[in-house]
Amino acid sequence: MIGPSVGLENFIFGSSRQALGRVGDVLRDLQGGTSFYGNKVIQGNGEVDHLIPWRCYPIDLGHNFVLAHASCNWSKRDFLAAPEYRDAWYEQNILTSQDVPH
Ligand SMILES: [Zn+2]
Repeated sequence: MIGPSVGLENFIFGSSRQALGRVGDVLRDLQGGTSFYGNKVIQGNGEVDHLIPWRCYPIDLGHNFVLAHASCNWSKRDFLAAPEYRDAWYEQNILTSQDVPH
């Protein structure tokens, strides 16, 4: 879960592989094991993506992360996510935020 086991400082300062791996585990639970882009099941690790590209919003806060297939992540690259993904992000982060300790 997001909380004491991950630590806010990891979201803000740590973009290490290990920290991102733990974020990935949380996102996998949150997204039911599917890719944020396309909703297909992710086999293997997937990739943690910045929904809002790093160059636009260079802060590693948990709410800017989604889990996606490497291939989906690559096809999105640094472009802003399409509006339907923005809506899905809103659902995932705002509507479920009561269940996730901050
Ligand atoms: Zn995908």
